[in-house]
Amino acid sequence: MKTRLVFLGPPGAGKGTQAIVIAKKYHLARIATGDILRDAIGRGSALGLKAKEFMDRGDLVPDDVVNAILKDKIHNTPDGFIIDGYPRTIEQANFLQSAIEIQRVIYFDAPEEILVQRIVNRRVCPVCNAVYNKLENPPAVEGKCDLDGAELFHRTDDIEEVTRERIKTFWQKTAPLVDYYFHKGLLAKVSAERNVGEVTAEIEFAIQTE
Ligand code: ADP
Ligand code: AMP
Repeated sequence: MKTRLVFLGPPGAGKGTQAIVIAKKYHLARIATGDILRDAIGRGSALGLKAKEFMDRGDLVPDDVVNAILKDKIHNTPDGFIIDGYPRTIEQANFLQSAIEIQRVIYFDAPEEILVQRIVNRRVCPVCNAVYNKLENPPAVEGKCDLDGAELFHRTDDIEEVTRERIKTFWQKTAPLVDYYFHKGLLAKVSAERNVGEVTAEIEFAIQTE
């Protein structure tokens, strides 16, 4: 069983949704750089102020900023973890490699139109980071988190224009990591356009095989 995992893929592919399911089932820590940055913005910290301008326009936050976050978190994890949304550049991947050994990288493959549809309908819990979708996976009570009742929010970068920019950024800066990890023998590709349960099963297969 592989327990030091990276979830790689374009925005909206379902990485966060699956990371929550897999982390819970296998008792892994989840390190989501996007959640950490949004939390910093919410608290109005120096990190948040620095990150916000990049996030608002669909660009990546500078490598040195996210590498510092990763380094801090990775030292506090138990035996197993899922890193969700990091690395996103070759420089970040090299940094990660120097920090810890990764055992499997799950690549979420999905066509652009599905990503945009999913993202514009995404709603998130500000308290526990649970992810919903107005069409595919609505909460039991409209606008409220099933787990803690908090008011769900629509991320400011989840509007269509910024979403398309983020997908472009993915292809320019992050997609080279697919080859990078393939050549290291770590990559497992899943069909992210399938339903949540089917994608979970593909991931479980990928982390249970040698
Ligand atoms: P990512 O972390 O890759 O950006 P999320 O996990 O936040 O993606 O999912 C994006 C949106 O798509 C959310 O609204 C989520 O509820 C929905 N979603 C996730 N996985 C699936 C799936 N397999 N089928 C349909 N909708 C999904
Ligand atoms: P996410 O929550 O993964 O969709 O990330 C939201 C935004 O946070 C991205 O569009 C980036 O601006 C920023 N971000 C998250 N993770 C990283 C990372 N590893 N490198 C650079 N920017 C990141």
